[in-house]
Amino acid sequence: MPFSTLGLSPDLVHAAGELGFSTPTPVQAQAIPVILRGADLLASAQTGSGKTGAFGLPLLQRLQQGQSHTPRRVRALVLVPTRELAAQVGEVLRSLGSHLPQRPKVAVVFGGVSINPQMMGLRGGADVVVATPGRLLDLLEQNALKLSFVETLVLDEADRLLDLGFADELQRLLALLPAQRQNLFFSATFPPEVQALAATLLRDPVRVEVAATAANEPAILQRVIEVDPDKRTQLLRHLLKESGWDRALVFVATKYAAEHVAWKLHQSGVFATPFHGDMSQGKRTQVLAEFKNEQWDVVVTTDLAARGIDIAQLPVVVNYDLPRSAVDYVHRIGRTGRAGESGLAVSFVSGDTEAHWRLIEKRQGLSLPREQVPGFEPAQVAAPAGPGTGGIKGKRPSKKDKLRAAAAASQPADTPKSR
Ligand code: AMP
Repeated sequence: MPFSTLGLSPDLVHAAGELGFSTPTPVQAQAIPVILRGADLLASAQTGSGKTGAFGLPLLQRLQQGQSHTPRRVRALVLVPTRELAAQVGEVLRSLGSHLPQRPKVAVVFGGVSINPQMMGLRGGADVVVATPGRLLDLLEQNALKLSFVETLVLDEADRLLDLGFADELQRLLALLPAQRQNLFFSATFPPEVQALAATLLRDPVRVEVAATAANEPAILQRVIEVDPDKRTQLLRHLLKESGWDRALVFVATKYAAEHVAWKLHQSGVFATPFHGDMSQGKRTQVLAEFKNEQWDVVVTTDLAARGIDIAQLPVVVNYDLPRSAVDYVHRIGRTGRAGESGLAVSFVSGDTEAHWRLIEKRQGLSLPREQVPGFEPAQVAAPAGPGTGGIKGKRPSKKDKLRAAAAASQPADTPKSR
């Protein structure tokens, strides 16, 4: 089904084509007609599903249909959890809008950088504002913009907005919006607090759920390699060289580790750099741009880069340290295999982290073979499946852990280890 059948104007179909979108992704095919007719939308869409186009294209079309005002009034507000996502969504909206007869002005505002250029940018108004909640409230306090003409509100990655503790900011912002408006709600997961927010916000929403099918699930090959913790950097270097990975995003547990691993790789001749929350916003934007431009082969990051960042054609994601949860695992590996491209996600597992990895596998319904790389075979023996604490020190075995241990004990001794 081509974009032209969804009710979009030829200009927008052309703009989508310019970005390389020739056929709508499933969430786009379902959401675009609903948004064009003005209904509220509740979309459960995974990262990399094409959700920015799903709300961006119809939103821009509806802006064209309304009257133009001088000065410009904010008619669409997109709230996002992170600065990186704000910049990315703003970029997509600007590219899509650049082909329109009345080119919309898209303002992007986020914290962590000076407020003054953003205040200047809002002079003369804007048609669309893409914002993180805290900075938007600051700008409203300074009277840099008004939200009383907003016709469409988009909450992008609503689960993450709540995870990051933006619930109060959201309530304050919602109180400033006109009651009559279209609401578009996108979230990858729907825990109770996200459902509650959706229930207060949406009126008779159309639900769009993109079931994970072979057609829309990116082809991500997942591998698990057993290695001792102190051999991981060497193994990573070996894999980069021997497997011909030209670029990799490497996840570690702490900011210190991001610095340290990047430094060790760099010392050994790999173009590697860290990326984490202690770096200034300017530096973070620069590193991402350089990575996209292929100036770095490896970026070593914390979970800061796990969501919302789109790096086209990123072939490999490495879990040098395992993520804390299965949800974080999904977000991390979603950085590769974007928009139908194939990708590779490699997780390093040691004797100490084997139990934690098993929990992630179980929550994901996975059972991956354990691999070893010649020359890097672990000396440590994996802890037996038992009342593990999921790798969390000091945690006493829960009821679930005990049940799991009982189940493991009842298995025959010759059952291979989770293969
Ligand atoms: P998103 O989920 O909006 O972050 O999009 C994920 C990736 O898919 C981005 O790299 C987009 O450029 C790309 N993309 C979005 N829609 C399409 C489409 N219809 N065809 C091909 N690529 C797309």
